[in-house]
Amino acid sequence: MVKAEGVHKSYGPVEVLKGIDLEVKRGEVFCLIGPSGSGKSTFLRCINHLEKINAGRLWVDGDLVGYRQKGEKLHELGEREVAFQRRDIGMVFQRFNLFPHMTAIENVMEAPVRVKGQSKADARERAGQLLERVGLGDKARNYPSQLSGGQQQRVAIARALAMEPKLMLFDEPTSALDPELVGDVLDVMRQLAEDGMTMVVVTHEMGFAREVGDALVFMDGGVVVESGHPREVLTNPQHDRTKAFLSKVL
Ligand code: ATP
Ligand code: MG
Repeated sequence: MVKAEGVHKSYGPVEVLKGIDLEVKRGEVFCLIGPSGSGKSTFLRCINHLEKINAGRLWVDGDLVGYRQKGEKLHELGEREVAFQRRDIGMVFQRFNLFPHMTAIENVMEAPVRVKGQSKADARERAGQLLERVGLGDKARNYPSQLSGGQQQRVAIARALAMEPKLMLFDEPTSALDPELVGDVLDVMRQLAEDGMTMVVVTHEMGFAREVGDALVFMDGGVVVESGHPREVLTNPQHDRTKAFLSKVL
C-alpha cells in the first residue's frame, strides 16, 4: 500500500530523511518509532505530499505520490491532482485540528459534502454512524470545546474515516492526551485495525505497537535503523541505538 525507495528530504542544508526504504502492506498496522527529530513526522507528511521529497520514490497503492512518470522523467502533479490523491489518505495529528465553530457531526460531514459533493442528508447519516463507531453517538451536537481531548481525537478519526480512505496516517495521536484518555483512542484504532484498515502509526505507545502492530520500524537520524515484527524488535532489539532508545521508553 505504501512503498518507499531511497526517500530523501532536506530542509535547506539539513538532510532530515537520508534514504528511507520500506513497504507497508495492505491491511497492515505499521508502527514507526524513534527519538524526537528522527524524521518520523516528516516521513508521514511525505506520504501525502505535504512535503516534497528531494530524491527517491514513494508510492501509495501503486501510484507515485505527487508525480507522474513519463519514461524516465517525472512530472509534478498539479494542485488538483495532488488533492485528488490525498482524498484517499486520512491523517490524524497529535493536536486535534477540528473546526472549532462546527459541532462534532458537522466536522465529520464537512469533507464529504465539500470535497465529494455528498448531499447533507447522506453525509449527516454517515457521520452519525461514524460517531457511533468511535463511541460518540451522544456527542454529535457538541462543539470541540465541549469535548475532552480524547473525544476530540476520536472525532478527528471519524472525520478522516468519512472520506473512506484506503490508508490512515496517525502522527502520535495520543501523545497530547491526559493518560486516562489514551485508552479510548487506542481502542478505536485497534478496532479500525481489526476492520482491516491499512495504518501507519507514529507512536510512543509500545503496548499498542506490540499488541496491534504487524510491523515496526525504528528510525533514528533520518534512517531506518531496525525493522521487523513489533514483538521481535521490542523484546530483542539488535542495534545499540534501538536498545538505548527502548531502554528509555519501555
Ligand atoms: P518528534 O518525535 O519530536 O515529533 P520527528 O521524528 O517527528 O520528531 P520531524 O518532525 O520529522 O521529527 O523532524 C525531523 C527534523 O526535521 C528535525 O530536526 C526538525 O527540526 C526538522 N524539520 C522539520 N520540519 C521542518 C521545517 N519545516 N523546516 C526546517 N526543518 C524542519
Ligand atoms: Mg513528530
